[in-house]
Amino acid sequence: MEIDAHLVSLIRVLGQVAIIVYAYSWVIRIVDRGPLKSVAVGLLFGLIGMLSMADPIQWMPGVIQDGRSILLVLAPIYGGLLGTVVAAAMMGLFRFMVGGVGAIGGVAGIFIVAFAGYMLSLLPRKWIGTGWKRSALLGLGTCTSLVVLAFLPWAVVRELLLSATLPTVVVNILGVFLLSDLLGREQYRIGIQRALENEASLDPLTRLPNRRVLQREGDRCCKEAGIRRIPFSIIMLDIDHFKKINDSWGHSFGDTVLARVADVIRRTVRKTDIAARYGGEEIVVLLPNTDLRAAATVAEKIRRDIEATVLMFGQEAIRVTVSIGTACSLEPTTDFKHVLETADKALYRAKAAGRNRVELADAA
Ligand code: GH3
Ligand code: MG
Ligand code: MG
Repeated sequence: MEIDAHLVSLIRVLGQVAIIVYAYSWVIRIVDRGPLKSVAVGLLFGLIGMLSMADPIQWMPGVIQDGRSILLVLAPIYGGLLGTVVAAAMMGLFRFMVGGVGAIGGVAGIFIVAFAGYMLSLLPRKWIGTGWKRSALLGLGTCTSLVVLAFLPWAVVRELLLSATLPTVVVNILGVFLLSDLLGREQYRIGIQRALENEASLDPLTRLPNRRVLQREGDRCCKEAGIRRIPFSIIMLDIDHFKKINDSWGHSFGDTVLARVADVIRRTVRKTDIAARYGGEEIVVLLPNTDLRAAATVAEKIRRDIEATVLMFGQEAIRVTVSIGTACSLEPTTDFKHVLETADKALYRAKAAGRNRVELADAA
């Protein structure tokens, strides 16, 4: 085989590696866990496996190689059992449809390697490690497909072992090293990115989004309200006599109260609502697509739920209350700051009227 043909093959393989790394990165950015992620990764591995089988590298006449084993042995780590089944089923079906004398052996080999990969993925982490040790073990796992040789005539097996087996095994091991390293790096990079994003948007005490997120989402709601004339509402809440709680039971207990109040709110609002820590002990809930009446009902439920929550300080049962101001953006041109100010005024009225109550603002 000429050198430029090898080069073309190498470029094709690198192209497939690039596709899988970019696509994997894209998949885990969208869904980072659960069966949907497994199926997506399985489809991706299956697809690249089929692409690779349709376009194998020919080392020399009769000696061909593709990336199926590398992908199959890695599928359990990145796509779990479900992803492995999807990938193996796709590649198995493809190999079956290609046909030829080696069809049954090929299909069997696919499932054997997938099974070996899955079994290896079950080994305890401290045995298998994560770096080169795991790659070497998984690389050797690709060799399990060689058991199908047992069903071929000895003359053919001898020929294959002498010519094809060694380069295939070496390339598979190197392939597992390369691909698992690239995918692992991508997984790590996305994990770090997600952690940093969380860090920048979540309040560490209450685990609620911070004011920056509230502002961004509020601006988005204002834009929508302007275009589609959909109202949104705001619930602004302040814990009553919080200074006294800090003074009587300590700042750390005050922190606990704040976190518990945040939990109650989180449980009460819808998934589409955004409860954010607005200030010290002030929390704002943004309710997209919600009018003042509906928001008032939510606010009242939050007020009652918090009032009913009992916090223990040693043997002492402590209850807190909150005052709430609720406002709605009925004017499509309203800016978010204005809605916040209107809710703040209503909150002030709630405080002045004796606390532990909900006050509604006029349309903002
Ligand atoms: P009011 O009913 O009028 O709201 O009375 P208040 O005592 O709650 O008054 P104010 O809202 O002015 O007091 C807020 C207090 O909340 C002051 C501050 O020390 C405390 N605080 C703010 N952030 C935190 C926090 O993260 N943890 C704790 N423990 N206390 C906080
Ligand atoms: Mg307060
Ligand atoms: Mg306050």
